[in-house]
Amino acid sequence: LTKIYEASQSGRHVLDNATATFRAGEFTVLLGRSGSGKSTLLNLISGIDLPTSGDIWIGDERVTALDEQSRTLFRRRYIGFVFQFFNLIPTLTVAENVALPLELGDVAAREAHQRAATLLERVGLGDRLSDYPDRLSGGEQQRVAIARALAHDPALILADEPTGNLDEETGERVLALLIDLVRESGKTLLMATHSLDIVPLADHVYRVTEGHLHEEPL
Ligand code: ADP
Ligand code: MG
Repeated sequence: LTKIYEASQSGRHVLDNATATFRAGEFTVLLGRSGSGKSTLLNLISGIDLPTSGDIWIGDERVTALDEQSRTLFRRRYIGFVFQFFNLIPTLTVAENVALPLELGDVAAREAHQRAATLLERVGLGDRLSDYPDRLSGGEQQRVAIARALAHDPALILADEPTGNLDEETGERVLALLIDLVRESGKTLLMATHSLDIVPLADHVYRVTEGHLHEEPL
């Protein structure tokens, strides 16, 4: 993969012929200093953005060959995304936030809410279904975001510094929960993080540096 942002003055290669394979069911950590291209890579994998050149395959699908609408549909079906700043919709309740990706995927409202309630129970927020996100702490909001990312049972979870906005102890608990949920359901997890504590829990660690992806020994 190569990515050059048109808007950038320097024409710098954020990614420069970066290559990697992430296997199904594995948990991979992406390390790299701020600005190294971690978010860029995750956005490319999710199909939110397109590379300047190169290809992304997820299963049998060449994501980079799909038009924008098809990439959106692919993402809704197969990918869950956990963001640093939670990105919950403030005008929807906790349960509605989690049910939304299901309803977008044409699951009936009642079934979507049932599934949302089950997941929120699982992340320890079963008693907060009707609350609005601004009533929740950062750690609670991120647990809602994790439930939302898992709601449509995606094969692949992408997490972009999911603890970057949480205190250390809360962050550790949120990460442990995310990893538990991913492990027990056999999903693939790719996480950009600065938290080195997480490294021993990962199957693989890659460092993003100078536009390249280097696998590091565990
Ligand atoms: P990281 O997530 O590792 O901190 P990013 O992928 O966000 O790094 O950014 C990598 C580089 O690309 C940075 O130099 C950043 O300024 C630049 N960049 C990111 N997004 C854009 C964009 N939309 N337009 C122009 N430059 C961008
Ligand atoms: Mg980033």
